[in-house]
Amino acid sequence: MVRSSSGVFLLSIGSELLKGEVLNTNVLFLGRVLFEHGMKLVGERSVPDDPAQIHVALREVLEMSDFVITSGGLGPTFDDITHQTLSDYFYGAQESPIKNHVGKAPGIMFRSADRIVIALPGVPREFEAMMLKEVLPKYLVMKRRKLDSFSVKAVGISEVDFLKKLGMLPDPRNVECGIYPSLGEVRFTAVGNNLQALKKKLQSKLKDYIYSFDNSESFEQILGKLLCAKKKTLSVAESCTGGLVTKLLTDIPGSSKYFVGGIIAYANSVKENFANVPKSVLSRYGAVSKEAGMLLAANVRALMNSNYGIGITGIAGPGGGTKQKPVGLVFIAVANSKQTFVEKFQFRGDRERVRLLAAKRAFYLLWHKIKFERF
Ligand code: ATP
Ligand code: MG
Repeated sequence: MVRSSSGVFLLSIGSELLKGEVLNTNVLFLGRVLFEHGMKLVGERSVPDDPAQIHVALREVLEMSDFVITSGGLGPTFDDITHQTLSDYFYGAQESPIKNHVGKAPGIMFRSADRIVIALPGVPREFEAMMLKEVLPKYLVMKRRKLDSFSVKAVGISEVDFLKKLGMLPDPRNVECGIYPSLGEVRFTAVGNNLQALKKKLQSKLKDYIYSFDNSESFEQILGKLLCAKKKTLSVAESCTGGLVTKLLTDIPGSSKYFVGGIIAYANSVKENFANVPKSVLSRYGAVSKEAGMLLAANVRALMNSNYGIGITGIAGPGGGTKQKPVGLVFIAVANSKQTFVEKFQFRGDRERVRLLAAKRAFYLLWHKIKFERF
């Protein structure tokens, strides 16, 4: 096996991690922080609070990386055996404490030949603070192979289409790329040298979809900022999303600057009596139709006197689908005072997924229209 000299391995110690009791957030944190600092988490493994298993894991893990961080088992309780176990493993090795500013148990560093093991407490708050304040600046900085990295977030496109539009990726020996889809969004990451060309290419080929370059804000926040910057307001009439669009918008502090309100037009009587969708339209085209979606958007906008309106109507499932109108069929409309646009989508997935995809897509339509189409 080839030992990596550029990466860090995380060995998580704690029986609770293997019993489905605790989610290992230290992996998420470490992976992200290393990535942001141009380093890599080359692997991770979880073991129970058992000295024999910790010994076996350490031996194997030190074959893969010369810098291992362990988390957990440093406290004073009976199951906290990390210190003793590591001391046994590294008999005679140099040891130094690592300050813990937020908790009681300090960390410990073991060094033997060219290998380093740093043991940190498992409690995420302590693990995170010690990584940032101590380990990263004092122990990992020498090791840092100066790589650039960035991550972009996109909406309104699948990961397959994203890669198609992007075209040739850089040589993986120079730049390591990754693409990660998650409910209506795509995250693309790159680590390596001279990333400017790749960034430019992303900007030119995917500008319609990328909403953030190296930015932790959510899409809803970005949309909110855009509305604020343009001094525009928004209202919503939603059927199959049942308030989700309104929830996602109002999750953001300060959304009252641009979000006016919404109608949950679930029953036809509400579409008719509160969103002014004529009975004739509902009976002729159905509640799940292009026509109904457009009227929801246009009417709520007028009723609430906002600059923009969003209308959503569809079949979230699992029941209620027909051959002509299957589960996952959703019409999403956006309106301003002059025009209304509607798009038809066929989403796949369960009820929750269909609703979330519909909400994201509505935000995307509005964002794109405002940003690129002078809507
Ligand atoms: P303490 O001094 O608090 O005892 P410790 O190093 O002994 O610190 P543990 O006893 O292993 O830490 O874990 C304390 C708590 O921290 C656990 O109950 C668990 O909830 C949480 N924890 C431990 N490891 C992880 C992990 N990898 N990810 C998320 N939470 C963790
Ligand atoms: Mg423990």
